[in-house]
Amino acid sequence: LLLAYDPVRKLARVQVNVERALVNARMIYEILDLEPRQEDVPGAKELVVSRGDVVFDRVRFAYDGHRPVLRDVSFEARAGKTTAIVGPSGAGKSTLFALIQRFYDLDGGRITIDGQDIALVTKRSLRGAIAYVSQHPYLFEGTIRDNIRYGRPDATDAEIEEAARLANAEEFILQQPQGYETLVGENGVSLSGGQRQRLSIARAIVRRAPILLLDEATSALDNESEAKVQEALERVMKNRTTLVIAHRLSTVVNADHIVVLEDGMLVEEGTHRTLVKKPHGVYARFYRMQSQKAEDLLEYGAGQSLA
Ligand code: ATP
Repeated sequence: LLLAYDPVRKLARVQVNVERALVNARMIYEILDLEPRQEDVPGAKELVVSRGDVVFDRVRFAYDGHRPVLRDVSFEARAGKTTAIVGPSGAGKSTLFALIQRFYDLDGGRITIDGQDIALVTKRSLRGAIAYVSQHPYLFEGTIRDNIRYGRPDATDAEIEEAARLANAEEFILQQPQGYETLVGENGVSLSGGQRQRLSIARAIVRRAPILLLDEATSALDNESEAKVQEALERVMKNRTTLVIAHRLSTVVNADHIVVLEDGMLVEEGTHRTLVKKPHGVYARFYRMQSQKAEDLLEYGAGQSLA
């Protein structure tokens, strides 16, 4: 009886885990090899990324087919550069991330990567070109090594350890009871927010994808963890086309390009230097309010949220 019971119990546990994983759509984006809803078009080609230029060209989208969530949004995220996306809650920032990964079809316009319409390439090649770091990284039941390997199943142990080093994760991994073989997830050791983020960054590094989607953390980490996460992020962003949903003032100020979304529309874009100069600009107003708050908070070393 016990023998018969055990597999059933295991299966039930898997089921619960899958359901939990599906609860939060943002988590799904991190599990990059999940089957997306969209099928490939007949004769779909492999995406070939030479530079990594991402273009949103008059993108229109509604989840329900009626109420527009993105209205003719056009901008370019240039190869190897960082594009910060800012705007109030509900403006459509996360939806842009869902669309570039083809979780939904567009209602109008197109998204291209190096001139190739993402609707016409295989979803596998598209997903392979993109790494996603979320603000609430999902850890599977399994070892730390397995969790990093999710970024690329054929990564070698040496590559996994190199990624962990670059992500500033090695030190805390080696402090765990079984190092890389330590179990994490529901029944494993619990990790702090900053540690989870660094595992997620290591996962993105092993993926070796030229395009990085980053949803910055809104909650402040402790100072040491914060600095290590920032350093790791800077390493992973280097030489990749990065689109970041920015919640930190420093990210926006240092970005190569800023896109301001409001109610599904692109209302302003440019660099920090050009946008702050617009006397009645949305961004300039935003910045004035936030930098005032940031000064207040800097004494405590806390991060600052823009959205
Ligand atoms: P936040 O900063 O709060 O994350 P956001 O700018 O990322 O906001 P989105 O999450 O893209 O905004 O949401 C844009 C709009 O689309 C909102 O009105 C939201 O309620 C709606 N929306 C988001 N996801 C879905 C979904 N899966 N189904 C239906 N509507 C959705």
